[in-house]
Formats: sequence, C-alpha cells, structure tokens
Amino acid sequence: MKPGILCKWKRLKESYFEKAADQFFFIEKCIVNCCWLYDLQVRNKKETLNENKKGKVIAVTILGNNSALPAHNRHPTSQIIQTDEHTFLVDCGEGTQMQMNVYKIRRSKINHIFISHLHGDHYFGLIGLLTSLGLNNRLNDLHVYAPAELETIIQLQLDASGSLLPYSLYFHVLENEGIIFEDHKFVVECFQVNHRISCWGFKFMEKKNLRKININQAQKCNIPTSFYEKLHGGYDYINPQNEVIKNDLVTTPHVPAKSYAYCADTAYFEIICEKIKGVDLIYHEATYLDDLQKKAMSRFHSTTKQAALIAQKSGAKRLIIGHFSSMYNTLENFKEEACEVFENSEIAEEGVCYLA
Ligand SMILES: [Zn+2]
Repeated sequence: MKPGILCKWKRLKESYFEKAADQFFFIEKCIVNCCWLYDLQVRNKKETLNENKKGKVIAVTILGNNSALPAHNRHPTSQIIQTDEHTFLVDCGEGTQMQMNVYKIRRSKINHIFISHLHGDHYFGLIGLLTSLGLNNRLNDLHVYAPAELETIIQLQLDASGSLLPYSLYFHVLENEGIIFEDHKFVVECFQVNHRISCWGFKFMEKKNLRKININQAQKCNIPTSFYEKLHGGYDYINPQNEVIKNDLVTTPHVPAKSYAYCADTAYFEIICEKIKGVDLIYHEATYLDDLQKKAMSRFHSTTKQAALIAQKSGAKRLIIGHFSSMYNTLENFKEEACEVFENSEIAEEGVCYLA
C-alpha cells in the first residue's frame, strides 16, 4: 500500500472521531428539521387538496429555493404548481426528482414543464426526470416550454445515451410574450425578464369564473333560457312588461379567479409590474440582501427590497422570495428586509406549499 493512501486513511479516521460528537448533534438537528418540514407539508397539502376540490386555488410547492450552488441543505430552483386539474413543473434544477420523492409529488402527473432560462441551476435536473418518466413507461404526451436551445441539448443527451422515450415529448419555444398554454379553465402566459441570457417569467391564471344561475329562481321570474348566457355575465333581465329583474336575484357571485406570477431570475425590472398586475401571489427572486444592490445589478439579480418593490408596484397580494445566494447560511434577514417594503412577504421554504 502506498504511504500516501495510508496517511489519507489515518487522517480521515482521526477527523471522523474528532467530529463524531458534532455529527451526532448535526444529525439530530436534521431529524428535527425534517419532521417539522414534513408536518408542515402534510398540513399544507391537506389544505391544498380540500381547497382544490372547490376549484378555488393555485398551490405552489417549493422544491428548491437556492441559487447556483446547492448549499446549506438548500437546492437549486424548482417549483410545482397545482390546480384542480393540473400539476405544472416550473424549472428543474439538479435534485428536483429527489425533492419530488421527499415531498410526495407524483412525477407521472406532470404534463407541462416550464423552463425559464438555460442557466444550469434551472434545468440540469431535466434530462434525469425525462428519462425516469421513460423508465416508468410513461405513455402520455409531455410538453416542455423553454428557450430554443434546450431541444438541441436534450436531443444530444438522449442520442448520446441511446435513450428512447416511450412517450411523445413536445418542445414549445419561448419566443414571444403572451399565452403559451390554454384550456377551458386555465391560462399560462410568458413574459420577458431582465437577466444575463434570455429569461422568461410565467403567469398562471384561472379563467374568470361566471356567475352561477339559480335555475328555479330564473324560471319563477320567467327568464328565457336564451338569456342565461348574459345572466352568467352579470346582466339584468328586462321582461316584456319593462320590469327589471336584477341579476343578483337569480344568480350567485362567481369565485374570484386566482393568479400566480413566477418572475424567474431577473435584475430589478419595473416593466414586469404591468404584466403581472394584481396577481394573488408572486414569486420573485431575491438572491442578495439589500446592501449588495451593486453586486445584484452586475449579475442581473435582485435584492430583497427590490423584489418587495416589484410586489408593491404590481399590486400583488402576497410575495414569496427565493433563489438565495449560497453565501448566506441563514435567511432570517431576507424576510425582515422584504417586509420593510412589502408587509405580506415570505421566504420560499422548501417543501412548503403556498396558496394563491
Ligand atoms: Zn440565472
């Protein structure tokens, strides 16, 4: 055996025993943290599912809240957005699949994946997820919305590893702002943000819910069915005797449509306020505390107070901040600083579900 290897082993052994006591406390701390997160997760999930049954909620579960490097038990960016009919994945940093396992997200439910930009901390987990879905014999179509180059990258990875996917993978290139997904109840729009490379934010919106007609009441008032469409829209009915039947006499109010804006990686960029005006929930990156505004600007990132200012100027109801720099071990100051500008601010915590 070479002496060098012996020395290395000895060093490892010594350091192991020296650190054993510290490690014990570290492990204990991790278990406590995991239990706490798990409890929170279960509680939040129940809330989500109950609310979703009523079709009233957009639920955002944070899988990764860190920037470029995984550090301090935090992971690169990834989020799950759930509605009563969809499970969307937004960004897919390294470790996303593992986080899905931890927080009981079923990857087979995901049919649409949105990738904001091609910095690795936002998509290095994607090829793993795509091939795992193949190994699980997925057959349903999968849609990926991303900058154009991603298709070439994924194809190269699949070709080089001789991987054949059993399902159809559709790429939708992000080129213009506007609607990129729409069905009978839901719309997703993309909008440009200000980052070092092409980068996109996403706005998730329920379609406006119509007023609900009380059929018995409408029949009693002799309102013809041909007018029901207008009743849904809130119009009063005027009968042949010229009497006004007030809309709220025969309908009940609609549930306000919910909306969520994911603002991706961006420098402070006021232009987006108009595009995300009045959303219920906004996620905005806050890579740095506010004393590092210059550094944030030079790297096309934002600070706590800048994120909070965007929430305030866009009229959002609630803000979550994330994408924390690995230089920060703890995050208490992030919340404090954001709240100074926008009171309803929270830290994006991994495993926690935020409701719009
Ligand atoms: Zn980036």
